[in-house]
Amino acid sequence: MKRIGLLGSIALILGALISPSISTSQVAYDLVILNGRVIDPETRTDAVRNLGISNGTIKAISTNKLTGRNVIDARGLVVSPGFIDLHQHGQDEENYRFKAMDGVTTALELEVGTGDIDAWYAQRDQKTLINYGVSAGHLAARMAAMHEPVTFLPTGDAARRAATDTEIGEMKQRLEDGLKRGAVAVGFGIQYTPNASRWEILEMFRVAAKYGASCHVHMRHAGVKEPGSSIQALEEVISAAAITGAPLHVVHIQSTGGPATPKLLQMIAEAKSRGLDVTTECYPYIAGMTDIKSAIFDEGWQEVFNIDYKDLQWAATGERLTKESFDRYRKTGGMVAVFSMTEEVVNTAISSPLTMIASDGILDKGKGHPRTAGTYSRVLGNYVREKKALTLIDALTKMTLWPAQRLERRVPSMKNKGRVRVGADADLTIFDPQSIIDRSTFQDPAIYSGGIKFVLVNGVLIVKDSQLQSGVTPGRPIRAPYPK
Ligand SMILES: [Zn+2]
Repeated sequence: MKRIGLLGSIALILGALISPSISTSQVAYDLVILNGRVIDPETRTDAVRNLGISNGTIKAISTNKLTGRNVIDARGLVVSPGFIDLHQHGQDEENYRFKAMDGVTTALELEVGTGDIDAWYAQRDQKTLINYGVSAGHLAARMAAMHEPVTFLPTGDAARRAATDTEIGEMKQRLEDGLKRGAVAVGFGIQYTPNASRWEILEMFRVAAKYGASCHVHMRHAGVKEPGSSIQALEEVISAAAITGAPLHVVHIQSTGGPATPKLLQMIAEAKSRGLDVTTECYPYIAGMTDIKSAIFDEGWQEVFNIDYKDLQWAATGERLTKESFDRYRKTGGMVAVFSMTEEVVNTAISSPLTMIASDGILDKGKGHPRTAGTYSRVLGNYVREKKALTLIDALTKMTLWPAQRLERRVPSMKNKGRVRVGADADLTIFDPQSIIDRSTFQDPAIYSGGIKFVLVNGVLIVKDSQLQSGVTPGRPIRAPYPK
């Protein structure tokens, strides 16, 4: 604001209160998005507006005509904050392409996380299509403390044996080192380390609490069978949050809970009503996916999930398993889809006012689970438009505002994401609400979603007229403040 004098300033401020775009008609923005149906979950705005974007930031939101060097005509399209995925394991060029084509502008690996924060961010610096970030992982800390090579999921000693006090101390130190280097959160996969003691988990929560970091937890048990039900598992982590003060985020509640999902959601609502900071997420599919070699498939898995060999689908070939093929693949390892949920459970989770949407996605050379490529379009096409299980603005709230708010305490820059607001980052997803739909399947998981028309990351178009743009790398790190 230069040399406009006091009266001018007052006029501008008053003008801004009435219409943020007053006196902007002569400004030419880098990009304007005209006539779109702008939906902003924070203000519950759902109205036709024009947007002006410059230098990666939303500069104007107006009913007035705006001019720009580049113009997108968004007539008939929804203009939403870009989707923020709190649970995306695949963090490479292949995975980012599929996320972008599903409307995701920020993909975070918060459940499994990493053991080396600096190296993880350095690998992606200035190279990515979308924004990225990671947690400090308890699994990685446990593998390192037990002197095992740090792989995605533990399969050796770190998966199965109890830790000594010295090893627990070393894990705490590793998580603390990661948080000091700006890890977004702390990640847990307790079902992958069934002999991690309750005290060990509490100790990790204590570290997270000290740094205001949310704990993103794949819980100790799944299903309804007692002892060892998902209800008991949720008691463990709600207790840990209450005892330590760490914020708790329960991942994929519907795949862990199965038929107990409504009870788990009730418990979370009750914990929140007592003032605890507890949130959760889900994805819109009736099958999960994990490594066949992991502890999840130790003796008794059929009873835990109430399924059999035929309910397992080998990702590499699409074949359903038998006892013979299960035993064979269990020796080599590899990803397997687990058909353990009903459509009713998924519907309950998606439409619950407590859940965020998060994909749990990972694709490896086109193989994997369809959730990687299709989660967000599937919610908007299948659950919002076709089933009318929830409203469009509520679905978008679960994909944008709530994930941003989950992380704001630790990562203040998230206050500029998940919103269509003057001053917010220009991470935007523009889609056709009449045609948006997932196309990826369990047989062919690597198919882009349909109906996503334009995607911007930090003001740069990465999807234009439904075409992925090449040679652009506007993605930036999402990282808590740390000493440079
Ligand atoms: Zn998980």
